[in-house]
Amino acid sequence: MRISARVLGAALLVITVLAITTLLVMAVFMMTRTADFQEKSKAINDVSIKVSSISTSIGMTNTTATNYYPRLFEGANKIIAQSLELTAEHELTNLSRLLLSTQSNLVTLEAAFSSDPSSIYFTNLRAQIILQLSRIFEEANRQANKNYLQQNALLKRDLTILSSIGVALLSILLVAFLIYFKGFLLPIINAQASLRHKKYKELSTNKQLVVTELELLFHTIQLSQKQLIYDATHDELTQLSNRAEFKQLLSNELRLNQTRKTCSAVIYLDIDDFKNINDSLGHVIGDKLLLAFSRRLSRLINGTDCLARIGGDEFTLLLTNLKLGFAEDIALKKVLEILRALKEPFNIESHPLSVSSSVGIAITPVHGNDGDTLMRNVDAALYDAKSKGKATYAFYTSELTENAENLLKTEHEIKDAIRNDQFVMFYQPQVDARTEKVVGMEALIRWEHPKRGLLPPPEFIPIAEKSFLIQELGMWIINNVFQQVAIWQENWKRLPKISINISTFQLEQVDFVEQVQNLITKYDIRASNICFEITESTFLNYSKRTLDSINNLRALDFEFAIDDFGTGYSCLSYINRLPIDIIKIDKEFIDSIAQPSLSTSPLEAIIILAAGLGLKLVAEGVEDEHQVEYLKQKKCYVIQGYYYSKPIPATMITVNSNGVMLQ
Ligand code: C2E
Ligand code: CA
Ligand code: CA
Repeated sequence: MRISARVLGAALLVITVLAITTLLVMAVFMMTRTADFQEKSKAINDVSIKVSSISTSIGMTNTTATNYYPRLFEGANKIIAQSLELTAEHELTNLSRLLLSTQSNLVTLEAAFSSDPSSIYFTNLRAQIILQLSRIFEEANRQANKNYLQQNALLKRDLTILSSIGVALLSILLVAFLIYFKGFLLPIINAQASLRHKKYKELSTNKQLVVTELELLFHTIQLSQKQLIYDATHDELTQLSNRAEFKQLLSNELRLNQTRKTCSAVIYLDIDDFKNINDSLGHVIGDKLLLAFSRRLSRLINGTDCLARIGGDEFTLLLTNLKLGFAEDIALKKVLEILRALKEPFNIESHPLSVSSSVGIAITPVHGNDGDTLMRNVDAALYDAKSKGKATYAFYTSELTENAENLLKTEHEIKDAIRNDQFVMFYQPQVDARTEKVVGMEALIRWEHPKRGLLPPPEFIPIAEKSFLIQELGMWIINNVFQQVAIWQENWKRLPKISINISTFQLEQVDFVEQVQNLITKYDIRASNICFEITESTFLNYSKRTLDSINNLRALDFEFAIDDFGTGYSCLSYINRLPIDIIKIDKEFIDSIAQPSLSTSPLEAIIILAAGLGLKLVAEGVEDEHQVEYLKQKKCYVIQGYYYSKPIPATMITVNSNGVMLQ
């Protein structure tokens, strides 16, 4: 197609160029001829004018006619000769006939002159000659004009025809150009278009190829659609179903249960302390563990049962098509099988990892007959298993919902209690056993509940910590204690150090340090009079912000104590690197003093460690004299416990010249 266009274009180009050249030659020829003819017509005209001027001069030379006659004759002959020359060929015959008669007249005239050259004759002759010559040249002129007009009309016609042919040829030339260059130049300029063009040509000429290509395309679309659906319904890491897919499968199964008269079990697993593994060994190991965990579980799944990964370390298992009344037993059997299988450690990149899982179980229809209810209830069951101490399972019970509802209710109540000033701070003294003087006081919160009476912190602090209400409540506590410290500072000579318990969530608060600083300024108290107590777990997974908050507050002169020391995960080897000033020995170690069955070695180790690191010590939960004496002996002098005083309201604390007195 492209080649034939070129050939056609080239041929047309050549023909048109030739035609135009011919046309131009013709036009030039015609133009020269016309110019020639115009020149001749003009010359005849000129002759005519000359003749009339001659005849005028003849008229003027009346007396010397004889002299003029030969010249006149001669002149007339010359003019005739010129006229013959100028006249167009085809008029030659007419004209020559006319001239011949003129000539014969002139001959007659000459004869007459020779025989009788009288003046009368001459006058008559003159008149006749003039008349004769005028006629001859009038005729010649008329003929020439007629010819000129005819020639002009012809030329006009021919030029019109020629220009039409010229325009047509130019159009053909343009078309030839287009055909020639479109077929040849465009593909060079746009190679891609040419390729597409070629492909299109191939496709259109090969019908089978078109069908095959279309089929292939359709297949690809189908594949990518399938991939999209797969990606949307599966977990990338384990390739198990994801949460969305699991919910869909669960709702399908619930529908099937109606018609089949069957039931199902939902099992919810959560790896215990997975966060620790992730934090200590890194996400790569964490991911590999999740994969190995999912593979081990997959081996225990059969038939239409479905295992899904619905969150970081959370897996769900749907046991389908169970016989009514047997679901609980089957589910329990499966859960025990899983817990047994998990007893064997995983080997991840030469790390032998022992992991356990907590499991919640919910059965249809007793624990819910729709997806949402079942998921909510199995979550409550899992939470219950976790609170029972991990590596165990729990079935859903309606009590769990009640507890969850109570939790929600309590959260609302705590919010109201802050607004209604139902919280109150108690203070428990810390006494120097050598001097029996109060050297410190720990602020401990109480809730004056309008219905339930005075509530201790374990009843509401953990709930506040779960809902982040602890940040609001925590700030209320600090404000309240600072206010009290300001009063004591004004009235007492020497102020004992006041300890405030704070939670990790507070240290995570972006503006925590700033708020504390503002309160210090507001109440005009000294930061060195305040100690913040934090638990060991703070340092288990502490963030940079937590550490920054501690360091910034210490820089402002606040002290930090590590609370319940020895009960958590503190590793003695890194205690020296923690930004703390005081170690509070937990009651658990103090209890070992009175009980012969318990070893006091850990207690002694802590005392030696604190002395070695230059950290201050406070013994908590000291209840009897024997414990006090023992601690004094071991050089642990600051004692907090019921032996000296229970936590009491600020109003019960007074001061005398000896220091702080308790009423
Ligand atoms: P904690 O910080 O270890 O506080 C000491 C707890 O031991 C207090 O219980 C106190 O009453 C109790 N206690 C002190 N001496 C003795 C003793 O000789 N024998 C016995 N059996 N117990 C003793 P409380 O006041 O019920 O506080 C419990 C926990 O609640 C505290 O433990 C602390 O972790 C938390 N808490 C208390 N007040 C606050 C607070 O204002 N903010 C925060 N975030 N937590 C607080
Ligand atoms: Ca404490
Ligand atoms: Ca404590």
